[in-house]
Amino acid sequence: MNPHDRERFWSDRASELLAWRTPWEKACPDTFTSPSGWFKGAAIDVCANCLDRHVDAGRDDVPALIWQGEPENQAVVHTYGALLDQVRRAAVVLAGLGVSKGCVVGLSLPALPELVVATLALARLGAVHLTFPAGLSPAVVSERMAACGAMLFITADGYFKAGRAVPIIQPEGGPRRVVVRRTSQAPESLREGDLWWHELMEAHAVVPALPGAVHGADDPLFILYTSGSSGHPKGVVHAAGGFLAGCAHSARHAFGVGPGMTMWCLSEPGWIMNMAYALYAPLCLGATTLLYEGSPLHPKPDRLWRIAQKHQVATLITTPALTGQLMREGEAWPAGRDLPALKLIVSVGEKLTPENRQWLARAVGKGRAPVVDTWGQTETGGVLMLSGSRGGLTPLPGVEASMNLQGHLALDAPWPSMASALVGQRLEAGSSYDTGDLVQTTPDGAFVILGRAGIAGADLPVAAVEAAVAAHSCVAEAAAVGSGDTVVVYVTLRAEAGEPFGLEEDLERAVRAEVEEFAGTLCIRVVEELPKTRSGKIARQALRGAAEGRMGDTSALADPSVLASLLEDPGKLF
Ligand code: AMP
Repeated sequence: MNPHDRERFWSDRASELLAWRTPWEKACPDTFTSPSGWFKGAAIDVCANCLDRHVDAGRDDVPALIWQGEPENQAVVHTYGALLDQVRRAAVVLAGLGVSKGCVVGLSLPALPELVVATLALARLGAVHLTFPAGLSPAVVSERMAACGAMLFITADGYFKAGRAVPIIQPEGGPRRVVVRRTSQAPESLREGDLWWHELMEAHAVVPALPGAVHGADDPLFILYTSGSSGHPKGVVHAAGGFLAGCAHSARHAFGVGPGMTMWCLSEPGWIMNMAYALYAPLCLGATTLLYEGSPLHPKPDRLWRIAQKHQVATLITTPALTGQLMREGEAWPAGRDLPALKLIVSVGEKLTPENRQWLARAVGKGRAPVVDTWGQTETGGVLMLSGSRGGLTPLPGVEASMNLQGHLALDAPWPSMASALVGQRLEAGSSYDTGDLVQTTPDGAFVILGRAGIAGADLPVAAVEAAVAAHSCVAEAAAVGSGDTVVVYVTLRAEAGEPFGLEEDLERAVRAEVEEFAGTLCIRVVEELPKTRSGKIARQALRGAAEGRMGDTSALADPSVLASLLEDPGKLF
């Protein structure tokens, strides 16, 4: 696209999808800069875009948020009118605690209605939410809050998962805490100086109308840390105008989201896809978002399908890790549930294997709802590429991508929801953004992601070796890393595979047959479990370290002991 067309394209999108307080002088920046420079001179009320404008248009009785607790009988539907009322009250409460424009507030909440209410109330005040995923160690939460200068911490006493009340382990010290009461299991969960969320909200049952804060387009809206699949997690800052425009555009144009549709994003709170597609995009587009608190398998492995059926979910967003977990429970669970409202199944976060895709299409989509794979990063603020019918991923309208000289996927023009800054680091400015993912292009010009550069090993066909190993019927998961001229493939086996005889020769033969260009050394290690990040992605950087005998940085790992045991016993080496 030439600069003139690009300017027109994004001006049209931003005015079609959002209501702006002050128009921009120029929509698109010429280069990647920090802050992003998107919608220069414009101002926007983020909360009003998600709530007030739908109420003002007479849609106050339309469901905005359906919350399903893990206990079946605990469910709440908040209409746009009711959600706005809650958010207004919460904004008054938080303003009373000193929160104002530009303040950073830590948010560690499970999938409860208060997650949505607190997020939007902070946006209403112009404050920046630093949102944490579940399962981080208290030390990491403290360290990130200090790095971002958080002045308040909103959290909960726990949540229900797999039939149990799970406490949220809280950091010591740090800023004042407001605690949402969910499980009431631990009386000591309120420490001195802490405040209960419900008591503050009850004290503000009637509130004066507090006008929404207006964000400059480049003012920060939230901070999220990356999952760390490529190393140490980075704190990524997203700006108000660009983030909202980018995620509303992808939700509308890639997923067809709009009023009257229920969208269910199963990526968990504290990750970018949840922020974009469970919170901001569906509300901004006047749709209904569904939030589920508990385990996908509780009380039985058909729980998700029962919820999707009951609430007539039209767009289901899932992850490969969750899909793998559901597949292991068997196809009978989704097969018994008819989902006539389902229009689209989307996979986010990492590569969707052909096997996972076929399972989703057959068992869940029933041949009616198509399945799409997507590509995006925390840094890109949502999905930028979508799988096409002829294989590979193709950029969404407005996204300009190519393979650069290093063989990495690059974005050749700025994109509105690009990270606007990094916490404590400089964001590289320039005319192109290197995503750090190795790619190949198909004859149709689509992209095939091979993995993170520096982990995959630029000169080795690591992804192709991994795919050849993963295709074997005994293999459950395979993760390949390159080191020197060696490709080490870590493998877990399917439960039904037992101790397969001759697996070594089989796998080696498959690799040599399918990856003709591979002349290096192959090393296959069968292990009990692969180290994963907290979002369920295979921690490839950690595996690369393990392949070279190093433990390295484990702060991103869900369970560092998996890596430790892998180093102690490097696995059965074929
Ligand atoms: P994160 O930093 O946690 O947001 O992870 C982003 C990374 O996940 C990307 O840079 C890719 O390496 C990987 N990823 C996301 N979607 C896909 C996909 N569809 N196929 C392959 N890798 C993906």
